[in-house]
Order: sequence, then C-alpha cells, then structure tokens
Amino acid sequence: MAADECNIKVVCRVRPLNAQEEKAGSKFVLKFPTDDTAAVGGKVFMFDKVLKPNVTQEHVYTVTAKPIVADVLSGYNGTIFAYGQTSSGKTHTMEGVLGNDTMQGIIPRIVQDIFNYIYGMDENLEFHIKVSYFEIYMDKIRDLLDVTKTNLSVHEDKNRVPYVKGCTERFVSSPEEVMEVVDEGKANRHVAVTNMNEHSSRSHSVFLIHVKQENVESEKKLHGKLYLVDLAGSEKVSKTGAEGAVLDEAKNINRSLSALGNVIAALAEGNKSHVPYRDSKLTRILQESLGGNARTTMVICCSPASFNESETKSTLMFGQRAK
Ligand code: ADP
Ligand code: MG
Repeated sequence: MAADECNIKVVCRVRPLNAQEEKAGSKFVLKFPTDDTAAVGGKVFMFDKVLKPNVTQEHVYTVTAKPIVADVLSGYNGTIFAYGQTSSGKTHTMEGVLGNDTMQGIIPRIVQDIFNYIYGMDENLEFHIKVSYFEIYMDKIRDLLDVTKTNLSVHEDKNRVPYVKGCTERFVSSPEEVMEVVDEGKANRHVAVTNMNEHSSRSHSVFLIHVKQENVESEKKLHGKLYLVDLAGSEKVSKTGAEGAVLDEAKNINRSLSALGNVIAALAEGNKSHVPYRDSKLTRILQESLGGNARTTMVICCSPASFNESETKSTLMFGQRAK
C-alpha cells in the first residue's frame, strides 16, 4: 500500500426503500449529486464512495473489502465496520444472505477470497488461519463460540498489543469450515436472548480472521489480522420514552459509538500522539487494526426513508467526521 494513501476509507451505502416504508407513504429523501456525495435536506456529505440502492453485493465487496483482503494477506491488519441505525442494512452488508451466491455479504466473500489466494500459492508457503467470534454488550465481552465465557477481558500481549484474553480461537482449513463457525456463533447469540433482532441491534458483533503464513524455505513469516464489525444500532432513544435497562443500554451504545467516532476522527486528522483508544473496550481491542499501518473501511449504512431523515443525517455526519 502506498505510504501517502489515507488508510481510513468511508463508504456510504444507501439501501432501497422497502415495501413497508412505501406503503406507509415514506419518500426516498436522499439525493446523489455526484458519485461520492449524498445529500439530505439540502446538506451535502462527501465520502470516498457512495453506494446507491441498486448496487450488487459483489460491487459492495469490491469497493469496501477486496483491497483490505490483499493487505491482510501481505501481513497488514485491517478493520471493516458497518455503522448505522437499526434496519439500515448493516448485517445485510456484513453477512448478507448466507449461502446465497449473489446475496451473500462481505464476510463470506472475504473468506472465499482468502482461501482462493491460499489455494493458488506454491507449496513453500504454509498457512494457518484461525477465527474468533464475540460480541460486546453493555461493555461485556461474550464469546460466541463458547457460551460459558460471558465476561472476557482485554489484556496486552508481550508486544503491548491488546487482545481478548481467553477468547476461543478455531483453526480452519476451508471456506465451508469458516462459515460453519459463523453459523455456530450466530446460533449461540440466539440462545441467550429472547428477541434476537432487538439484541443484535444493541450489541457489537466482532468476527476476527487471523492469517499467519510462513515460507518454509526462507522462514519468512507474515501475520495479518482482520476485524469485521457489525456495530450496535446508532439510533437515539427518545428521551421521554426510555427508562431503566433500555436507557442504560442506549447510553452505553452511545458512549462506545462516540468513542469509536473520536478514535477514527483523531486518526483521520493524523493526530498520532493522542488517539483515545482506551475510552472503550471496542477501540482498545481494535487498537492495532485501526490507523497506523492498518487499513480501515467504515461502511455508513443509511435508510432513505423520509421517516428516518434525522437519523440518516446524523449517520452521514458520523461518517463525515472520519474524512
Ligand atoms: P441492520 O443490520 O442495520 O439492522 P439489516 O441488514 O438487517 O439492518 O437490514 C434490514 C432489512 O433490510 C433486512 O430485511 C435486509 O434484508 C433489508 N436490506 C438491507 N439492505 C438492503 C439492500 N441493500 N438491498 C435489499 N435489501 C436490504
Ligand atoms: Mg443487524
């Protein structure tokens, strides 16, 4: 990757208006003045790229993830986030419809690409791929591959790189095996909660792919980590309606998303001396995979419905801060 290239990329994706919204009389409020701008209420926001409602999942992959996969295979770290209010298309972007070739999202495509690369390499290279899957809910880290681990902590290794201590790591040797792990983690997520949709909108889910390769002749080693994060919904909870547990959840999500926004903004400004990684568990875990030599893409997911206009505006503003 070129040294002068900015390592944080912000892509805005706008989903189509859905049937329910149309029926309720919601209008498509976003406008696209150019290929890299989105406008709402007369305000124009600029991104590295704007993905309009009709783009294919394959195109989304090509724009948001493919270059990062190449870097991870060259030994760099990376992170891809999906940010946006609930039902804006985050999970559709990260996972899509699993097992459906055209509708599958970024994660299964990344996995396939990594193994295609490995299968194409010569025999002098030895690969070790391992994956972890956990979620962060109310600042607690829960292992999605071992439901007995409900409150893992963040430690630093001997090189002072933060990691989730004790989190399950699975060695995998084919795309199918990785997708089985994804399914297993998703099933575990269901087990502990009564309403999956509500729960998933209030926790950050993190899928980690670790690629180690060694050249058996030269003994040269490369090490790349890729974090794939489906963030908690960014919507504001109405101040009057929410109380108790719901309000606590909302405050917690708010805090961790603004911590993330602050870290990304500091990195985007080139402010290397003070990046507030320690303000949340998520940003601590991601420390070595954001900024510096790492590649980051944030996918800002938007609903186009007039009903969601004010949330869409704040989502676009969040993305803009990283530019
Ligand atoms: P989120 O994870 O942000 O809460 P989802 O990804 O679950 O939102 O999307 C909400 C609904 O909208 C789902 O039914 C999903 O299939 C659909 N959807 C989201 N984005 C798109 C898109 N780009 N094209 C078609 N349908 C979409
Ligand atoms: Mg979701």
